Amino acid sequence: MTMPESTKSPAEVLAAAEWKGGKCRVPMWMGGFPAGFCDKPANGPQLPMEVLFWTRAWRKEDRPYCHGPCCPAHGGPKDGEPILFADGTDERGHRMWCAVMPDFENLQESPAGFDINGNKAIEKLRQASRRGGEA
Ligand SMILES: [Zn+2]
Repeated sequence: MTMPESTKSPAEVLAAAEWKGGKCRVPMWMGGFPAGFCDKPANGPQLPMEVLFWTRAWRKEDRPYCHGPCCPAHGGPKDGEPILFADGTDERGHRMWCAVMPDFENLQESPAGFDINGNKAIEKLRQASRRGGEA
């Protein structure tokens, strides 16, 4: 039995390493022509707009399009900061964010925070971290 995309469990998302870092995938332009990707080291996917607004006072137009890993300068997580990835939807169809720390291993042993608001997901992650990773 295969599960539809929207009901993938966090463990499955993580197993697919979708949250992990890599090279920044923000497209670069030179003289109006595509010039590859940024390719700077990335810690994870680009942060949700509400998190960039809250933590860096970014506006929508400050955030470049990025599909995949994103370097800190382009809106990705900075070193040691929480990593967020989209993780399915809640019962009303809103996109859920899952926040984890960079040393995340798995949901059994590592704290994580879930919310439709990225800032609240980070807050829940920090609360879970203070409890020593117990859910
Ligand atoms: Zn970049």
